[in-house]
Amino acid sequence: MPDPLHRPRVVIVGGGFGGLAAARGLRHEHVAVTLIDRTNHFIFQPLLYQVATAALAPSDITAPIRWVLRHQRNAEVLMAEVREIDPQQRVVRVDDDRRAIPYDYLIVATGSRHAYFGHNEYARHAPSGVSWAASSSARQRA
Ligand SMILES: Cc1cc2nc3c(=O)[nH]c(=O)nc-3n(C[C@H](O)[C@H](O)[C@H](O)COP(=O)(O)OP(=O)(O)OC[C@H]3O[C@@H](n4cnc5c(N)ncnc54)[C@H](O)[C@@H]3O)c2cc1C
Repeated sequence: MPDPLHRPRVVIVGGGFGGLAAARGLRHEHVAVTLIDRTNHFIFQPLLYQVATAALAPSDITAPIRWVLRHQRNAEVLMAEVREIDPQQRVVRVDDDRRAIPYDYLIVATGSRHAYFGHNEYARHAPSGVSWAASSSARQRA
């Protein structure tokens, strides 16, 4: 739907440290921010080890992204997985019905993945610990 205030549309992919910092940094700007994340929550990753070792509960290190941005009137949050970026059409396509979200400016803050330096067979012995699911799994096995 076109923005009734004719603001430039800023789409941010990722609601981690980077995406949230970008969204907050735009809070006083004349833009319409759409932050897209495939989960509904922010994870404070530096404390994932404490979740894995059962020192903290998962809820201690997560917060709903909508809650974090609840006072930001120029921002909306969409829970969806971005599958494709089409720079020619200036849209990102998300998982549900391959819906296209238009943008004037795009910020990609999707984080990083761990690597096993060509030895993917190590993964079953040394899971990444970067996700909430991996830390919870380690916690159950400990
Ligand atoms: C165990 C651990 C300890 C750490 N300790 C420290 C520390 O002490 N100090 C420090 O500075 N840093 C630390 N880090 C690193 C720090 O947490 C990361 O650098 C930081 O989280 C990266 O932020 P980001 O926004 O780039 O990515 P992330 O925080 O990973 O956020 C990426 C977001 O993008 C979303 N996403 C990804 N792909 C898609 C997609 N296709 N569609 C929709 N959404 C998508 C994800 O769901 C996620 O919410 C640590 C990391 C870990 C794992």
